[in-house]
Amino acid sequence: MGTQQYDIAIIGGGPVGATLALALRGSKLKVCVLEARPANTASKDARALALSYGSRLLLARLGIWDALQDISNIRTIHISQKQSFGRTMLHAEELNVPELGYVLPYPALQDALTDALQHTLSPSPSPASGRGKRDSAGEGSGKLQFITGASVTQLQGELDHAVIGYQQDGVEHTLHTRLAVVADGGKLLAQQYPPEVHDYGQSALITHITCSAPQADTAFERFTPQGPLALLPFKVGYELVWTAPHQRAQEMLPWNDARFLHELQQHFGDRVGEFLTAGKRTCFPLGLRRAPQQTPMPHTVLLGNAAQTMHPVAGQGFNMGLRDAWELAQEILDAAPEALGTEAMLAAYRSQRRTDREAGIRFTDGLVRLFSNDLPLVSAGRAAALTALDCLPFVKKFVAKRMMFGANG
Ligand SMILES: Cc1cc2nc3c(=O)[nH]c(=O)nc-3n(C[C@H](O)[C@H](O)[C@H](O)COP(=O)(O)OP(=O)(O)OC[C@H]3O[C@@H](n4cnc5c(N)ncnc54)[C@H](O)[C@@H]3O)c2cc1C
Repeated sequence: MGTQQYDIAIIGGGPVGATLALALRGSKLKVCVLEARPANTASKDARALALSYGSRLLLARLGIWDALQDISNIRTIHISQKQSFGRTMLHAEELNVPELGYVLPYPALQDALTDALQHTLSPSPSPASGRGKRDSAGEGSGKLQFITGASVTQLQGELDHAVIGYQQDGVEHTLHTRLAVVADGGKLLAQQYPPEVHDYGQSALITHITCSAPQADTAFERFTPQGPLALLPFKVGYELVWTAPHQRAQEMLPWNDARFLHELQQHFGDRVGEFLTAGKRTCFPLGLRRAPQQTPMPHTVLLGNAAQTMHPVAGQGFNMGLRDAWELAQEILDAAPEALGTEAMLAAYRSQRRTDREAGIRFTDGLVRLFSNDLPLVSAGRAAALTALDCLPFVKKFVAKRMMFGANG
């Protein structure tokens, strides 16, 4: 078999890579998605995602929104600081939107995107294994292939194309593409092009909790010197994101439920009544990882977490990755056929994303640094700022709009 040729090869069929593939449906381009997970394996990722109203609009344009199951709404966000008087409330109606955001489990989003990809695919046998792991769909005169169990091991940018090496069932494959999109979460090129890393010294412990007085459609963000704590409304309880120094988070994992709920009560207070139950706990180390270049080599672009991995404090990660995918799709669809993957096209994409990307990273990083300390003067300033924000509708609207739609509006 000769080397396979594609217009676009997307490395990673996670939420961002899958979104890009869906945004290119119906084009005349030959596209493949290479996903390391084997076919029909559900993601076991325990995190819940808060999606912004802006992300809802993009997912609706892609025809995905109605397929998402198990979603809870956020209509109010209550922001406070531990051991201080300052607080701010954001309400959907003040901002003229039906909801500020939505909460859903990562696997629910992943499954809906994968189903949508497969919906238009008709199986064709894999030349490598003959076991149908390579599904393809033809729309227009273009073609989309979703290649599962395919772990990319090499990527090289050449003068007029990129070369990708991947393994499937222990067999090595090579393909050529005019544009390689790295949406793998950030590992493949990390050694070759090390990201700028800032370790906040924090991990997020996540779990589902129930309580005696849940407040409908209300999310809570509470800043503490240990790090922020978020309660995201989901079903009858909340998805908890409890940030703590790495070692402390590891110590908290094996606590029995009674101890865990007691410590949570001390930490958060009684705004939602008594904490009653806690589910399985998982821990994620947090940090800022920022690729210095979104297009590090010819015919290659980084997307989503591969381009920037952020602290979840402002719930910006996937929301930003979705905007990356959407705007890259627009650049691709607008490009003349001969311009696909060229430096001119990549420069246009970089320029389109610069403001939103920089603003999102600065905003998230600034929040973590500003709020994760207990210096008395800083704490008093923060309390005053939260109260002032509550009294300044224009500023509040500006901040909320940035969080919902990004800096490009
Ligand atoms: C605790 C926590 C809470 C969060 N909360 C929020 C939130 O509320 N809102 C929000 O917007 N964001 C949130 N995020 C961030 C969000 O999870 C990420 O931004 C998002 O998952 C990025 O998607 P992605 O597709 O870029 O990468 P990933 O989700 O990492 O997906 C990468 C995909 O690539 C595949 N892959 C990896 N390597 C290879 C390879 N070599 N070859 C082929 N395939 C490969 C993987 O199997 C995977 O399917 C949170 C993150 C954490 C840790």
